[in-house]
Amino acid sequence: MNDLIAHCTAPHCALPALAFVCRSHADQLAAALATVADLAVDLDITIARQAATGQRIGGRCAERPLPYHDAASEVRRDLHATLATWTRDLWETNGPRREVPTGETAPDGTPQTVAVLEPLDLADTLPEIAAWLLRHPSWIAWHPAAGELIDELLDAIARAWRVVDLPPELAYCGPCSDCETDLYARPQRDVVTCRECATVHEVADRRATMLKAARGRMLTAAECARALPGLLGRELSANTLRTWAHSGKLRQYKPRHGDPRNRPRYLVGEVIDLATATPQRRTAAAS
Ligand SMILES: [Zn+2]
Ligand SMILES: [Zn+2]
Repeated sequence: MNDLIAHCTAPHCALPALAFVCRSHADQLAAALATVADLAVDLDITIARQAATGQRIGGRCAERPLPYHDAASEVRRDLHATLATWTRDLWETNGPRREVPTGETAPDGTPQTVAVLEPLDLADTLPEIAAWLLRHPSWIAWHPAAGELIDELLDAIARAWRVVDLPPELAYCGPCSDCETDLYARPQRDVVTCRECATVHEVADRRATMLKAARGRMLTAAECARALPGLLGRELSANTLRTWAHSGKLRQYKPRHGDPRNRPRYLVGEVIDLATATPQRRTAAAS
């Protein structure tokens, strides 16, 4: 290999690099980081939806095998840890340091100082961390372990998307009542067959069960707008929920603990009741 040319340090990549990574890997990372804010919302919904339809903590069901929503929670924790670890590393490598007096003096009488890293002012949330990483491309490119950093971040983001990505044409119908395998119904079908144990379930029954199980959940308007339309079989936008709340038809509850945006939440049961009782407005485009 020509020592005069720098090569990308990402695994299995030998493209020329300006710093420690090639253009292609830098672009891939930027594109992946740009999806993290949406990914965080989808992960929360996946976790909430599967917690609502999966088993309770403790009780009779505690011995059942690892439920799928644990996979989503675990992937979310991994993603957060990976992003946070590399962010801390980048800050420790590049962050500004301030001279702080140690209280001691040198033999010539000048006060001794020590360089202290300024604290990193960054909210510890997936969207905020991803946005911060996007603002520091050259810190990443010049990090001695840039290849490892890019490889780990791309992997963590891709794994998280695999957990939330469902084939869009399939509707989630909750876990099989016999074997707990997640059921996905094809569009316009009345029944769904479990791919593990071959039990046939009525889609309408499964949806009713899921809606019932979800009634006690607290979700933000955006989460309701993603989770509920498929189950209710009607449009339900976040905006509709907020309009209902402002006109006093729907109660708002306290934000989730630690939600940096302090978004109010809604009780899914109350949303379902109101949506079911409210005729759906036809859009102007509908003929
Ligand atoms: Zn590369
Ligand atoms: Zn089954």
